[in-house]
Amino acid sequence: MIREIPPRSGAAFTIDAGRTLTVIDPWGEQVADLLAFARADVREVISSGRTFDYANRIYLTTGDVLYSNRSRPLLTIIEDSVGRHDFLLTPCSRDTFRIIYGDVDPHRGCFGNLAAALAPHGVTEDMIPIAFNCFMNVPVDGATGAFTVEPPLSKAGDRIAFRAETDLVIGLTACSALQSNNGSFKPIHWRVD
Ligand SMILES: [Zn+2]
Repeated sequence: MIREIPPRSGAAFTIDAGRTLTVIDPWGEQVADLLAFARADVREVISSGRTFDYANRIYLTTGDVLYSNRSRPLLTIIEDSVGRHDFLLTPCSRDTFRIIYGDVDPHRGCFGNLAAALAPHGVTEDMIPIAFNCFMNVPVDGATGAFTVEPPLSKAGDRIAFRAETDLVIGLTACSALQSNNGSFKPIHWRVD
């Protein structure tokens, strides 16, 4: 069954080892921030640093593994119709909107949405790391390291699928930052098979 995350919101749910989580961009050009915590101990969480260390790349796609802070595989990417995602940047937050956008009454962003959705699972704000940002397009200049946030390359119906390598708690959003989503807020679809 396909479930929908409304624009600028988030969800949390559990998934058992061996199941597949598919994240779908139903309209195109919409980012979804993804977090995965080990259900047995939610202090274990995906780690961009560990993952990059073992992948020797910052752009991850089919066949790549998302490792935890304890260097265990939590998710493996098993399907990817886009090939461009981000694992460098933190979830957008009140501070993102205050500092980058100058908003005076900022939205709580993916960070606030994730914190609220994950609270019943024992996850607190300080336990939220860099998310795997599905469909987020952050090209990096190889010489200087400078980067920009560009419109996602995803078209309507594009997807990325992950196999759970252990029992997990998942946090997932429809991202709230204008720049990441080419200027409009759209829903995200997901399903577990
Ligand atoms: Zn966001």
